[in-house]
This record gives sequence, C-alpha cells and structure tokens, in this order.
Amino acid sequence: MQTTQNTFEQFKLNRQLLNAIEEAGYTEPTPIQEQAIPLALAGQDILGIAQTGTGKTAAYSLPLLMRIKYAQGEHPRALIMAPTRELAMQISEAITQLAKYTDIRTVVLYGGVGPKTQIENLRKGVDIIVATPGRFMDLYFQEEIVVKHLNVMVLDEADKMMDMGFMPQIRKLLEIIPTKRQNMLFSATFSEKVERLSHEFLEFPTRIEVTPQATTAEMVSQTLYEVPNFRTKINLLTYFLQTREDFNRVLIFTRSREVAGLVHDNLLNRVVRESELKVIHANKGQNTRINAMEAFRAGSVRVLVATDVVARGIDITEVSHVINFDVPLIYEDYVHRIGRTGRANKIGEAITFMTMADEYHIRKIEKIIRMEIPREELPEELEIASTPAPERQDMLREIDNQKRKEDPTFLGAFHEKKKTFHNSPKATGRGVSKRKGSGGRSKRK
Ligand code: AMP
Repeated sequence: MQTTQNTFEQFKLNRQLLNAIEEAGYTEPTPIQEQAIPLALAGQDILGIAQTGTGKTAAYSLPLLMRIKYAQGEHPRALIMAPTRELAMQISEAITQLAKYTDIRTVVLYGGVGPKTQIENLRKGVDIIVATPGRFMDLYFQEEIVVKHLNVMVLDEADKMMDMGFMPQIRKLLEIIPTKRQNMLFSATFSEKVERLSHEFLEFPTRIEVTPQATTAEMVSQTLYEVPNFRTKINLLTYFLQTREDFNRVLIFTRSREVAGLVHDNLLNRVVRESELKVIHANKGQNTRINAMEAFRAGSVRVLVATDVVARGIDITEVSHVINFDVPLIYEDYVHRIGRTGRANKIGEAITFMTMADEYHIRKIEKIIRMEIPREELPEELEIASTPAPERQDMLREIDNQKRKEDPTFLGAFHEKKKTFHNSPKATGRGVSKRKGSGGRSKRK
C-alpha cells in the first residue's frame, strides 16, 4: 500500500468514527479511501473501480455514516446494494463496526432465509439498509420498506450484480427511490455494461480507479499448468496438498457445483481430513455456507472449494493459494478469484489448471490482464491419467465451438477428429501412467 503521511484525521470525520477506525486498526487510508472520502463527503457522485481488498467498503461507508450522523425516524436514509448474501453481510458487519460509537441502525436483507427476523428488524426503525436486490424488492412490495427518505445509494460490485442478472431489479429500484440523492457505484471491472449503468445511475460522477482496469493484484504470483484431464487435475491438486506445507489456506474454484462436489469427494479423507475440507456452492444452505467460510477464515479449515457465484466479493483474507481448478468462463472472474490471495502485503499464489479446451479462454484472460500467465512444467513425479474418450470428445467439441465463435464459416473438425480417436487405442480413463514416456501430456503447438 502506498506510503503517505495522511491519516484519517484529515477527512474531518467525527470523533465517534475516528475512534472506531482506530479500533479497527486502520492507521492510514488506503488509496481508494484517500481519493473517495473527500469527494463523497462533498456530496459528489462516485464511480469507483476497485476490487475487494482495496478498502472500498470503508471508502463509501465512512462518508455515508458522516451524512447519516445518528439514528433518526423509522425509515432508511441510505441503501447499499450488493450481489450476494455473503457480501451484504460482510458490508453490514463493516458498517456496524465503524458505526459502533454511534446509534445508527443498520439492517441487512438477503434471500435464502425466511424474512421474519428481517421484517422485525426493519420495524424497529432503520437508518441504513444493506441488501441483495431480490429480497429488497420483495420486502418493498410487501410495504415493509418506505423509500422516500433515501438520500444515499451505493451499488457495490456492480459488475457482478449485472452478471448475475439483477439489472431488472436495479432498474425498478431506480424508478421508485427519490431522484434527489447521492449515488456511488463500485465495480471491480469497468466493462461496457458498467459504463452504461453508470450513465443511468450517476450524475456527473468523479471516476476513481485504484488499479488500472482489470490488472491483477500486484502481490500475486501466477502460474499456469497444462493438465490433460480431470483425473490429472485431481492428481496435481493432491500432489500440492500432500507435498507443500505452505498450502495452508487454499481456495479452490470450480466452474460448476457438480465439479465442486467431485473435487470435494476426491479429496475427502484421501488427501485432507473431513474437518479440514469444506465446499460452498449455491445449493448449500445459507448457514452451512457461513459456517464453512467462518471456519476457513479462522484457519481450522485448510481447503475451501467454491464456485464463483458464492465466492464473489467475499473478503477472505490471507488465503495462501488460489487454485483455478477450472478456468473461469466469465473472464473477469479470474481477476476476482486471484484477488483472494496476496492481500495485505502478503505474497499470494494463484495456480490455474488448463486443459486443451481452455487455451482459448486463457488467451482472452491474458488480454484482459494484459500479461501472459507464466507456464510451469508439471512436476516430474506427477501421475498423468489418460483421458477418457467422452472427456476428450467434450473438449474437442468445445474447441470446435470456440473456433466457430471466432469464424462462423468454420465447419468443425470434431467429426473428423472423432474418427481418429475411435481408431486409437481405447482410453478407459482408469489407466494411470507415470509421466515419463507416457506421452500423456498434450503439448501445445
Ligand atoms: P474491502 O476492500 O472493503 O473489502 O476491505 C478489505 C479489508 O481491508 C477489510 O478487511 C478491511 O477491514 C480492511 N481495511 C479497510 N480499510 C483499511 C485501512 N485503511 N487500513 C487497513 N485495513 C483496512
């Protein structure tokens, strides 16, 4: 983090906030706070391009708390929207911590649990609501929320919100809330979609960007392994977890919850004990997910397997390793994923497993991060499993689709290749051979 002799005192925040900041252990503002706080205090609309881990939550919360000042009336005056329940909870915890010496009331609303307690909390009177869009709109239509006093609104992780299809709810929301208000929009990336939303949502915003668009966290060392198939990915993962002690807080990302389940089942007891391994995906109950994350944060869980949807925007600090078991298909997720490691001046490691069908996606990701991810040879002692025919066919089909996407006149090589594979010695997928002389590793051109 950039050195500066600046302190939080310079912002002329009130004493209650300064005390809470001190107690939180923040000695100096982060770059996004440095830039955003004075502008937000002056009432400006802000477009902030910043990833989690930059201190963006406090960057918008502190000015918002200055504006709200103290508890007043029954109805909310500030609204913060977040794409996931976990992020909403995390924001509300951060605000509660910063507002601890004030009487400001924060209520968090999210789906997946019954609304009863949330409604009760709203009825007690509220100053700030932190919510996911779906639940907020539900409770609004049930007339549990009066929006006419809202004068500050924040959209956090706006890019994710749009990826997750929340745009209709956001539009609806913008229709119902008072037009005279301060708006802040935060996003990890600045895509065209975000730009369009910012035109709808913000009025003469000041744009603040703490890292150039979608550059990867500076403190993360990135590595790419070419791995021929699922079985070998499991072997490589096993290899790392068994041979490397520094893999002590490992976050594994998979493309789908099915793969997350498979990874979990393959590691369970063979590689890590049940108590050290957790999986979180959208099918898991809210409490299971929260418990898994808490245990991972506390350090009692060594390996957490997650899909992007649930991991989005979560502040899990001090992750030693991020492993992209699958290459993400939403390319910005690569940036989000690896942003989980290398925080707070700790060097983190992000390892990506790439099959032949992923080369296309890796090229796109490398374009976004404006760098080539360094390739690493597979460890000598790794067992390379042969690729089962259906898995190989799926990959070839995917490659054909990619080619077709780039060139709509492309007819498809899959059917030609398929013949070759049928004629080749049967790959059962069960046979496992040592790397040397196996020829199992598909070398790229
Ligand atoms: P965020 O990007 O808002 O998710 O924040 C990431 C982490 O940085 C959180 O754990 C915050 O508590 C922490 N943090 C925020 N601001 C500061 C600061 N000025 N100094 C040190 N840590 C901070």
